[in-house]
Amino acid sequence: MCFPRSTEEVAAAVRVAADHGVPFVARGSGTGLAGGATPLDDAVVVVTTQMNRVLEVDPVERIAWVEPGVLNLDLSRAVQHLGLHYAPDPSSQQACTIGGNVGTNAGGPHCLASGVTSAHVLAVDAVLADGEVARLGGTGPDVPGYDLRGCFVGSEGTMGIAARIAVRLLPDPPVVRTLLCDFGALDDAAATVSGIIAAGIVPAALEMMDAEITRAVEDFVGAGYPRDAAAVLLVEVDGLPDGVAAQVAAIDAVARSHGARSVRVAADEAERALLWKGRKSAFGAIARIAPDYYLHDAVVPRTKLVDVLRRVYEIAAEQRLTMMNVFHAGDGNLHPLIVFDAREPGVWSRVHDAGDEILRTCVAAGGVLSGEHGIGMEKRDAMPMIFTPDDLDLQARLRDAFDPQGLANPDKVLPRGSRCGEVRRAPEGTWV
Ligand SMILES: Cc1cc2nc3c(=O)[nH]c(=O)nc-3n(C[C@H](O)[C@H](O)[C@H](O)COP(=O)(O)OP(=O)(O)OC[C@H]3O[C@@H](n4cnc5c(N)ncnc54)[C@H](O)[C@@H]3O)c2cc1C
Repeated sequence: MCFPRSTEEVAAAVRVAADHGVPFVARGSGTGLAGGATPLDDAVVVVTTQMNRVLEVDPVERIAWVEPGVLNLDLSRAVQHLGLHYAPDPSSQQACTIGGNVGTNAGGPHCLASGVTSAHVLAVDAVLADGEVARLGGTGPDVPGYDLRGCFVGSEGTMGIAARIAVRLLPDPPVVRTLLCDFGALDDAAATVSGIIAAGIVPAALEMMDAEITRAVEDFVGAGYPRDAAAVLLVEVDGLPDGVAAQVAAIDAVARSHGARSVRVAADEAERALLWKGRKSAFGAIARIAPDYYLHDAVVPRTKLVDVLRRVYEIAAEQRLTMMNVFHAGDGNLHPLIVFDAREPGVWSRVHDAGDEILRTCVAAGGVLSGEHGIGMEKRDAMPMIFTPDDLDLQARLRDAFDPQGLANPDKVLPRGSRCGEVRRAPEGTWV
């Protein structure tokens, strides 16, 4: 394991690994949920947490150059005095790094309107697998050539290590309003999500929590959530005052027309912050219920939310497991959360079976394997569920173009046997 302090030191570490034919793994804070930063075999782990400086801020162009180990929330804090912020806000933003966000193409509650990480990264100085440093993308308005930056973002460390990153900063909106919609039925909340988008409104954030998680959060944080709700929606809109007022009124009407029992608009910044504290503490709140959880991440078309959610709860009942849901509903990005006690004999196999079935259900509904956590090791062997052998071969060849020796985070994202002519290994899971 090494802890470089500069791009040159990252490059030097990677060169040593390359010279010895040893694989290497980029690691930020290690909060990733797909096992992407977990080293396999004897890989060298290149940890970027010592590279945590915001290097340059251009408030006119609204661009910042940062080192990869800068924590997501620290970046927004660093530019707050300029009336700017960095939009992607994973719920783990107090702990995860911008480099890790680039690696996973992270999303967050406020990515619905403004897009996930890829939409906010302009350029990456990437240390490639032979130690060469290449600038991918650029800060100009129209960077010529292929979008290699776009390939790199979300490549989970398999195309090199981001050593410096240029990000787009957004101006803070003049007015922000946060609404808490309380529902007596989960289906009504899910239908409201589609209803809001169908009404022509794309909120800044549109999050949903089911009954169990709402109660757990309320017991943990006291965020002012209704403890008897079957589901709540947290909706945020921002912009100019008149537009925001009109959107608040429209969302209120849509929610009530779908059976909302109440719609509360946060009266001030303190109340708004408390509502968000509840949402962002959801995973911590689980500890009050059971010692272990397995958080899933899949995407389904918004119109399929109701059907898929119903099936997810059926799967939980079939496997005698407790399931909770807290997720980015506006994106159709589901996060079924299986809560359990690993000390219970036999529970792991039921947890895995439930997870497999959830994934199959999402894919059958027209969804994809991951909305934001990535593929890593967790879903690597599920890739053939949505990609043909030709698709996988093309992806493998793209990866090879960045890393011909295959040393950058091997055995992540693509299953062995992805390249045309390679023998597919016996599957470890139940996917193929
Ligand atoms: C409680 C909780 C809530 C979460 N909420 C969200 C959420 O709302 N949205 C979301 O998207 N994720 C969420 N996550 C997952 C996780 O926080 C994100 O995936 C995050 O982007 C990982 O950042 P990290 O610094 O921890 O990266 P790590 O876990 O260290 O690494 C993640 C991946 O990125 C690669 N990587 C790391 N650094 C670099 C680099 N410099 N260059 C190239 N590749 C690199 C690694 O090799 C690995 O494949 C959550 C996790 C937790 C525990």
